[in-house]
Amino acid sequence: MGFDELGLGPDVLRAIEEVGYETPTPIQEQSIPAALTGRDILGCAQTGTGKTASFVLPMIEILSSGRARARMPRSLILTPTRELAMQISENFDEYGKFHKLSQALLIGGVSMDDQSNKLGRGVDVLIATPGRLIDHFESGRILLNDIKVLVIDEADRMLDMGFIPDVEKIVGQLPKIRQTLFFSATMPAEIRRLADAFLMNPKEIHVTPPASPAETVVQHLSVVGTRDKRAALRSIIRSEDVQNALVFCNRKRDVDILQRSLVRHGFDAAALHGDLAQETRTATLDSFREGALTILVASDVAARGLDIPDVSHVINFDVPYNPEDYVHRIGRTGRAGKAGRAVTIATPDDGKSLDAIQRLIGRKVDRLDLEGSLDDSALEDAGRPRGRGRSRGNGRSRAETAPKPRKAAEKPRPDKTPRNGRPAPKPRPAAELPDEPVVGLGDHVPAFLQRPARKAG
Ligand code: AMP
Repeated sequence: MGFDELGLGPDVLRAIEEVGYETPTPIQEQSIPAALTGRDILGCAQTGTGKTASFVLPMIEILSSGRARARMPRSLILTPTRELAMQISENFDEYGKFHKLSQALLIGGVSMDDQSNKLGRGVDVLIATPGRLIDHFESGRILLNDIKVLVIDEADRMLDMGFIPDVEKIVGQLPKIRQTLFFSATMPAEIRRLADAFLMNPKEIHVTPPASPAETVVQHLSVVGTRDKRAALRSIIRSEDVQNALVFCNRKRDVDILQRSLVRHGFDAAALHGDLAQETRTATLDSFREGALTILVASDVAARGLDIPDVSHVINFDVPYNPEDYVHRIGRTGRAGKAGRAVTIATPDDGKSLDAIQRLIGRKVDRLDLEGSLDDSALEDAGRPRGRGRSRGNGRSRAETAPKPRKAAEKPRPDKTPRNGRPAPKPRPAAELPDEPVVGLGDHVPAFLQRPARKAG
């Protein structure tokens, strides 16, 4: 099926052609014709499936007739994170380039006054994170009673982030007669309840079974002692053919600590988490997208839903608490049919979380043996004092090894040189980054790693 069979007008078709899409993805094929008839949509789809265009394209058609009034936007897209909001906004610009629709982006970290001025001129599309929208609404800068189309994107992430009360509050202010397009990667009971409350007779679309990782992602697991995680990470980066990597931590605080540790060890790394200024987040993401930055250490919140093409590796520095986050994280690589690699670093304490992940994805994750890594029985040791796991290899849980030759990921920089607009790393507080022995692959490089380097994409 071609885009021209979905009911879209010539201007949208021209824009799609310029973007370079040839055929609609399954969610676009199913969602666009239904949305164009005014039907509500319940889409169970992950990022990477083309779901953004599946709601943006029909919205452009629907909004192409009519005009916005001051402070009364005609449509609203609610998204959990600023990055996702910015990405949707960029898509609107691209797909709507032959239309004269105006949009406003209401996200935190940006001046409320600038946003308010824009609202005053009248906007067709409002793209917002829930907190900032409520701030505007409560200060009387915006009226929501002219909203004709509502999109709720990444509803399950809104749930994880505690935004559901805000979302319910916002939806309570909207006209009852409206069209609602609701998307979520997973459908837990609470999300299903919301969908039932917000949607009327929706067309349900499931494009991938919930929580199934892309087939193109090769997954590996390495179990090490808790104190060996950073060394294990360095080993992995040095041994794999890392073009660029997203490294996930469970806590924001650890994102900063790990990024500084990597820089100290000569790697080209920057941090991305919700506490950073919006300007910094945007600059960091841009440089990662452009290939000017090799390693992005991130929290789940910052990374969810980001469309970063060609990420060769996802490395879980921490095993995620929520097994669904595992699927989202590794979904950042192996996108659009390209090959990708995901390596998870676990400690003996992570046995339960790993079980949950392996149950969810329906299989065991293959082991990647690093020197000093622990065998499976170590995982049953959860709760015992740390550092007692049995070691493979030479019987020591940590081993000093000769430094490896530097690879692309390692770009030593003089301490005070600005790094792609990012501030030079601060001197390392001794208490924060204890010196740890180096665990590397040593002389024993597993056969798996000796394969000819495989480029992602
Ligand atoms: P999304 O799931 O919306 O995050 O989209 C994932 C990626 O797929 C983005 O880079 C889109 O630009 C791209 N994309 C969306 N629709 C298509 C299509 N029909 N053909 C090719 N690429 C697409």
